[in-house]
Amino acid sequence: MKSKASDVKVSTQDYFVNMYKDTIPKVVKSEEEWKKILSPQEYYVLRQKGTERAFTGDLLEVKSEGLFTCRGCGLPLFDTKHKFDSGTGWPSFYNVLDKTCITEDTDYDLGYPRTELTCSKCGGHLGHVFPDGPKPTGLRYCINAVSMDFIKKEN
Ligand SMILES: [Zn+2]
Repeated sequence: MKSKASDVKVSTQDYFVNMYKDTIPKVVKSEEEWKKILSPQEYYVLRQKGTERAFTGDLLEVKSEGLFTCRGCGLPLFDTKHKFDSGTGWPSFYNVLDKTCITEDTDYDLGYPRTELTCSKCGGHLGHVFPDGPKPTGLRYCINAVSMDFIKKEN
């Protein structure tokens, strides 16, 4: 894959604009502040770009209607209607709620390029997106359960 320098996003803004053109202020905290509000496992994944062990996430089996939000800041990220069983052991989605809420970046942690996903509001590490998902998008958003909370839809 060819990488273009123009694709590198260096954002110093303290907000982002979502698909509804709302201005969303970013959440900025020190590492010490994050450690106080996150569990050690959440801190490891969200703030240190860790990965939870496959098949250990508490949101893997969620099938009821609702929204998956960022555990760091509460921003809604995914909808159950886009969730599918990828067999990988991590919650997987073929689409996002709002592309502006998730920031994509390239990492080489495993020696080859992968598209890393972070929350646009707090910068928390979510997971990666791969081009081997189901139709209609063909994308597989592979997300750590520990990076998210689930808000069940009220009937
Ligand atoms: Zn967040």
